[in-house]
Amino acid sequence: MVNGESAPPTRFDVVVVGAGHGGAHVAASLRQQGFIGSIALLGDEATLPYERPPLTKDYLSGDTEFERLLIHPASFWHEREIEVLTGRRVVEVDAESHQLRCADRSVIGYQSLIWAGGGSPRTLTCPGHDLTGVHTVRTTTDVDSIRAQLSSTSRVVVVGGGYIGLETAAVLGEAGKHVTVLESQDRVLARVAGEPLARFYQDEHRGRGVDIRLGATVTRIEGSRSRVCGVTLSDGETLPCDLVIVGIGIVPSVEPLLSAGAVGTGGVEVDKQCRTSLPDVFAIGDCAIHRNQYANGEMIRLESVQNAHDQATVAARVLSGVAAEYDAVPWFWSKQYDLRLQTIGLSRGHDETVVRGDPSTRRFSVIYLRNSRVIALDCVNSVKDYVQGKRLVTESLVVDASLLADSTTPLKAL
Ligand code: NAP
Repeated sequence: MVNGESAPPTRFDVVVVGAGHGGAHVAASLRQQGFIGSIALLGDEATLPYERPPLTKDYLSGDTEFERLLIHPASFWHEREIEVLTGRRVVEVDAESHQLRCADRSVIGYQSLIWAGGGSPRTLTCPGHDLTGVHTVRTTTDVDSIRAQLSSTSRVVVVGGGYIGLETAAVLGEAGKHVTVLESQDRVLARVAGEPLARFYQDEHRGRGVDIRLGATVTRIEGSRSRVCGVTLSDGETLPCDLVIVGIGIVPSVEPLLSAGAVGTGGVEVDKQCRTSLPDVFAIGDCAIHRNQYANGEMIRLESVQNAHDQATVAARVLSGVAAEYDAVPWFWSKQYDLRLQTIGLSRGHDETVVRGDPSTRRFSVIYLRNSRVIALDCVNSVKDYVQGKRLVTESLVVDASLLADSTTPLKAL
């Protein structure tokens, strides 16, 4: 029995924890598979499930309204008898009695649990990290607060040169703000992309007036009357600013599962059917550590909409009694300025890089190989390469680097 129980628990056949992409898709997919039991979808935000990728793009720029972010309208959930419970943060899992306790002390029982908790943004720990005007970007509430401050902002410091940092820098730079990006590594996108792509994006941003500082360490956020007014670096320089945006990665939200005994470190381990080590508990999305054939068979977490979606499909099928295994090829996209980046496969562990096309034309691809086999492509404004290159990755084809580099030969011909 979970601690603090006050009323008889509500019980559902399936409880989904986390109302992001993975949670929303698994609940909807269960019905699509013909599952007729009761389903609850618990989210800790006050809203129905919505799309997160636009948060650092059209929603930040103000070009998209909140209603257009909704994954489905309220009627969709109602018609499918999926109970969406908003404002519920699960803080405890009792795997034995199959019960959850929420922060509001409500208790919910489950027959099967699907954990789609995602992650929360990592925050800075230096002095001043909690001043007004320091923001992370994960929810519409975060972006609403940033937008509310934009009219009185002229200088922005973005900490982190990952997708959050660069997409945000692009939007705010285009809105006329002076933007500085601080990245602790020696290049941007260090965790997700190869050197040629990182260099291209650095040049693009710098060419548009974004000040990108590499190898930068923040030691202090300066404040005046509890509002941020600057960021001090380890070399002593202070960058004056009105707004700080922190995009330094996420911490997977799995604490209640790990405390309940689930296996995992920095996430929760799942098998090919997305089952955790706890009975009747599945996990999907950003928080699920799984063996991935596109990562050389290593146990990894993937932070992407694609992964959340595909693992949700697998979990819904398995729970509906249909055989399924997760083996999807990873893909991802990013939009910065007029540059559409589409990636397929995972470049980690590559030992060779081929640039196909001329980056100065702003249409090119970077192809990654390991042991002469194609393992991933990053395609900038090159939809054809992205579409045609998929087979090179899924079939792990051996292709001569000089043929890959020749952009006059379509990839499908290889
Ligand atoms: P990220 O991709 O992990 O990038 C964060 C970067 O900040 C890393 O290079 C990191 O270096 C660096 N960093 C860490 N601590 C720092 C510090 N104190 N000072 C300066 N730099 C620091 O994370 P993110 O950009 O915050 O993105 C979070 C999640 O949102 C990811 O899952 C991402 O995929 C997702 N997202 C997706 C999209 C999209 O769909 N296009 C857009 C935005 C965000 P280390 O690796 O050394 O820590």
